[in-house]
Amino acid sequence: MANMIMRFPGGLPKALTLSYDDGVEQDERLIEIAERNGIKGTFNLNSGLFAKEGFKYEPDTIHRRMSLSHAREVYKKSSWEIAAHAYTHASLVGLPGNIATKEIFQDRKELEETFETFVRGFAYPYGAFDDASVEILKNCGICYARTVHSTHDFHLPTDWLRLPATCHHADPQLMDLAKRFVETENWWDPMLFYVWGHSYEFEQFDNWGVIEEFCEYMAKRDDIWYATNIEIYDYCKAFSELIFNTDMTACKNPTSRELWFTYGEKDVYVPSGNTVTF
Ligand SMILES: [Zn+2]
Repeated sequence: MANMIMRFPGGLPKALTLSYDDGVEQDERLIEIAERNGIKGTFNLNSGLFAKEGFKYEPDTIHRRMSLSHAREVYKKSSWEIAAHAYTHASLVGLPGNIATKEIFQDRKELEETFETFVRGFAYPYGAFDDASVEILKNCGICYARTVHSTHDFHLPTDWLRLPATCHHADPQLMDLAKRFVETENWWDPMLFYVWGHSYEFEQFDNWGVIEEFCEYMAKRDDIWYATNIEIYDYCKAFSELIFNTDMTACKNPTSRELWFTYGEKDVYVPSGNTVTF
């Protein structure tokens, strides 16, 4: 048997995504830098903590949450996904089940109303989670949830509700990992580079150059799919629905998405609803 490897849309072997938390004013600059380079990702927001309309921060405040109207204006015109991050940024661990449920469900509900979208992603406040919080997320209709664990690797997650990142943007290995990601060809698995952080940290540490350099280096490569978190999740889930015959010569795609894989030396494209032989 030859190896079968999932490919991303267009048959691409690699994907890149970002994940940024808290809904702070600096996200606007992050969107500009990322989108200028064709890169996007996901913002994880606390809908119970938007700043009051017209609120003025003290001049030296770095963690500046956007007001709801500002957030709507900034995020709705972007290509990024909106995901939940708990209604009041409470750590889910240790909360009574009904309160943890409210933190997730209320956040999801208000974000869906505000941004007129489906909210299906989550990032754990403080990175804290346990088995009980994972169960509650599932019951609230959340499909994936990001931790703050770094793998320093490019494997797709095996557990989407305990999703690790490749690294934080301030990781000293960031550019070494980026170089390895770009230069590696013919890996035996689909490759995902997943970066997380808070955009206010770029102001706090005066290092916007870190993300500028990273995005410019990763940009405009013909073997990378630039996607939001949920786009990657949805593609992987659709791929898992493919049906193969026992001879591994035919494949049926019952989903509404176009799917790609390689099988040995063959590149296979399976249109939505079609059966192909290969
Ligand atoms: Zn946070």
